[in-house]
Amino acid sequence: MRCRQASQLISEGFDRTLSRSERRRLRLHLLTCTACRRFRAHLRLLDRLLPVLLAQLRPKRTSVRLPVDARRRIEGALPGTPRKEADA
Ligand SMILES: [Zn+2]
Repeated sequence: MRCRQASQLISEGFDRTLSRSERRRLRLHLLTCTACRRFRAHLRLLDRLLPVLLAQLRPKRTSVRLPVDARRRIEGALPGTPRKEADA
């Protein structure tokens, strides 16, 4: 396996489960290739950090608090909302 295929598999491995033979060939390549091991380490790091960074970039939602009675009416109108007997 060449670096080009290996990096492709490393990348795809984040989106799908690699087949047994793909994993075996990739593992063999990674044993001998520092560059691809480094590439995989970087992708793993990005995979962990990206959601955190995106969450920080997203504008904060201003929270609006509804009065209790308005909230009850909305919840009561929604289908499948369990009604509490104690409230009735
Ligand atoms: Zn390689």
